[in-house]
Amino acid sequence: MSVHSHPGDETLLRHAAGTLPAGPRLLVETHLQGCPACRITLRRFEAVGGALLEAAEPVALASDALARTLARLGPAPTTTGLRAGGARPDHLEAGFAGVATARRGPEGLWLPDGVRLPRPLAARRIGALMPVAPGVRVGRVHVPEDAQSSVFLFQIGPGRAIPRHTHAGTEYTHVICGGFSDPSGHYGPGDLVEADADVDHSPRVDDEGTCVCLAAFEGRPRFHGLLGVVLRPFL
Ligand SMILES: [Zn+2]
Repeated sequence: MSVHSHPGDETLLRHAAGTLPAGPRLLVETHLQGCPACRITLRRFEAVGGALLEAAEPVALASDALARTLARLGPAPTTTGLRAGGARPDHLEAGFAGVATARRGPEGLWLPDGVRLPRPLAARRIGALMPVAPGVRVGRVHVPEDAQSSVFLFQIGPGRAIPRHTHAGTEYTHVICGGFSDPSGHYGPGDLVEADADVDHSPRVDDEGTCVCLAAFEGRPRFHGLLGVVLRPFL
């Protein structure tokens, strides 16, 4: 896999600092899995951040600092992680026998032979991919740690376009298989593309094959026409 498009330095810095929201963070982690260059850059940023912390002047903490910090973090998580009450994670519930089965992907997803969902994504609960426009299916990726997140898995047929849309914040797209073009260039497997808030675009998938890609939005995306109506319940 030859990766041509990477997250910007600002995005990797925010990831290193832990300030990138959970949706875009999932896309960056998916990209990092297949991009040694970005893993090296991230390690450098993390090392710089650690060095800055070590160089900072030590400041005496108030005696109740630990208690106040723990209080701000909220109650301790249960032993079952994010899902209290002992419930099984959604991707292991009815219809799925275990992790290996869940990793085949959500209902309605088509992947070519030899292509698997990237590991960070395969661990997530993903809703069934529903048809929302000719040749376009969309499923919501659940990110329970951030209820405001908008992360979607798109499956788009050859020669089809992602319906025209704008967004209130940055849009992140990671290509899992296939490829697409927009006025900024052509993108293929492993590429992560960032589009600024003022971009109003309709990326077009290559004629040769279906494109499966993951998209995260900072701020709600606004789709024009029918897709906006269909996706409203998701958003
Ligand atoms: Zn990269």
